[in-house]
Amino acid sequence: MTVDAAAAPAAVVATVGVHRGAGRLSRRRVRLPGRTVAPAGPPGSSGSGRGSGRGDGDGGGGDHRAAWMLLPAFAAAGGDEVAQKKLRIVATTTIIHDLTRQLAAENVELHGLIKPGDDPHVYEPVPADSVLIEKADVILFNGYDLESNVMPLIRSTSSKTRRYPVGECVVPLTAVDSGPNTPDPHVWNDARNAASMVNAIADALVECDPAHTKEYRARAKRISRELHELDAWIKKSIQSIPAPQRLLVTTHDAFQYYGRAYGLHIPGTLLGINTEEQPSARVMLELIQEIRRVKPRAVFFEQTVSPILIRAVAEDAQVKLCDESLYSDSIGPKGSGAETYSEMMAYNTRVIVNALGGKMAPAPLAFANRR
Ligand SMILES: [Zn+2]
Repeated sequence: MTVDAAAAPAAVVATVGVHRGAGRLSRRRVRLPGRTVAPAGPPGSSGSGRGSGRGDGDGGGGDHRAAWMLLPAFAAAGGDEVAQKKLRIVATTTIIHDLTRQLAAENVELHGLIKPGDDPHVYEPVPADSVLIEKADVILFNGYDLESNVMPLIRSTSSKTRRYPVGECVVPLTAVDSGPNTPDPHVWNDARNAASMVNAIADALVECDPAHTKEYRARAKRISRELHELDAWIKKSIQSIPAPQRLLVTTHDAFQYYGRAYGLHIPGTLLGINTEEQPSARVMLELIQEIRRVKPRAVFFEQTVSPILIRAVAEDAQVKLCDESLYSDSIGPKGSGAETYSEMMAYNTRVIVNALGGKMAPAPLAFANRR
């Protein structure tokens, strides 16, 4: 199933060129109209505002901070109360937790909900999570339905709780195979998008904790600069892979933003953007046939998804299954070498570049060592 561009609404502005004309398993992607992070409204509201779009025309990595700032402040009442004590912040994913930790440091009381290695698509909240969410002043979540089982809890919080769908500051790609205009939630897999998320989190922190505005803005500026350095380094490294070998086959469809940003073609994946589904025999067979046709040097499994089926596909297609896994939807545990957002991106890039015959660009990554 693909989008008929001629029939698409005018607001659907472009198909994504990286994958154009590629194998038939490629999921065609479109950009939705510009969406802007908005503080989620009271329970029952949609939780996402609409902005004027990116306006930069490059299709990735833009910064919606200006639009975010123009939105009316949410829940101005209560600001005096929270200024008296540290804000209690709950971050749902490990990625948002890590970016918030770097931004907010000792200024807030930060709790992570989903632990390193857990799959956010299928994560089921435990009773302790309900307590954390109930007591939170601020909830930072990815949005675009990534944390689908956690959302009922988040939506049920009181109107005093400020809720921010941080990942929704990025104009999403959509995977039409997963339903009409379903946004792809894996926005962080483009480091420029992560920089936008940092600015969105900083905006939320400034709104909820204006006393530390200067610190939040200064840290956001520094982290954003480092993420753009990371972005350039990843791009250079991926581009060292000979062009015909720039093929990325993974278990689930989490790397479309990465592929688009850094120039990797994704011939197909075993699962769509959500890991809850199971692939049919037909999907497996089609992927095997596509792998045989395009002949990638290796295919990859992921930390948060069982490798059993992708291993079977690799064996049938007679292609190497890379023995190092990728971190798609979660940073790694302590000691993994992928325990911060930047380290995760650097780790994935090293695994991909080494397996596909490239050479890492020799750039020292000071930010990769920051804890
Ligand atoms: Zn995912």
